[in-house]
Amino acid sequence: MARNRTLACVFAHPDDDAYGVAGSIAVHADEPDFRFVLIHATFGELGDIRDGFPATRETLGSIRRAEDEAAWRALGRVPDRHEWLGLPDGGLAEVPFEELVEAISRILDEEEPAVVVTFGPDGVTGHPDHIAIGAATDEAFARLRSEDRSGFQRLAHAVIPQSVFERWNRQRAEQGLVTFDPTQTYHIRGVPDEQIHITVECREAAGRIVAGLQEHKSQHHVMFDDPTDTAQWERRVGREWYAVAWPESEPDAPMLADLFEGLT
Ligand SMILES: [Zn+2]
Repeated sequence: MARNRTLACVFAHPDDDAYGVAGSIAVHADEPDFRFVLIHATFGELGDIRDGFPATRETLGSIRRAEDEAAWRALGRVPDRHEWLGLPDGGLAEVPFEELVEAISRILDEEEPAVVVTFGPDGVTGHPDHIAIGAATDEAFARLRSEDRSGFQRLAHAVIPQSVFERWNRQRAEQGLVTFDPTQTYHIRGVPDEQIHITVECREAAGRIVAGLQEHKSQHHVMFDDPTDTAQWERRVGREWYAVAWPESEPDAPMLADLFEGLT
């Protein structure tokens, strides 16, 4: 049987996919058997509109969808399949859980991804949409995986290690910037370093990752303190981290360097 190199990423908003996972995709961009499936639950229509940006509440969703699609073109690897569920931005926690699980399951069942990436229970920022989509994806994965399938070999949560979170906060404090408070919703937070099982070095792709990030033009002010400082952007995207939610890792398992490492 051919090896399975399908990756499915399931996120809440356009731009959730621009950080944290884009480099892990860039490193596989040119592999003939790599298949990249992307699911967005919402169009991000309730997102911030930065001052002077030509969007209205009515147009922001379609603008953000186009930005996200342009971002993957800029990175140089568009999804092989990109599904937009069109669920309410800011309202995923209110969508009946079963409905969310079924919408995700339908696509994952067809695609048979070896690896599924989503948010963990921390949601990286505690955003209720992130937590809801992550929980529904975990449930879809648990229902679909079975030993006679080639897919569903690994479920990974995109996360920030606590040590990295603390370093970023120290740097912010030194620069006189507001520090992140992980007890507050919408502030980034870390997970204990011992929960990190995969660290992807993607510094070589940093230029392409930043080219993608820059396409999220309506959201630059949310992404970086100084949107003109692309050197700062590049320093931030050189490494991506995951906690493996399934299968359970041995306590002393070596750190993996890639989402597919060790899979058949
Ligand atoms: Zn988001």
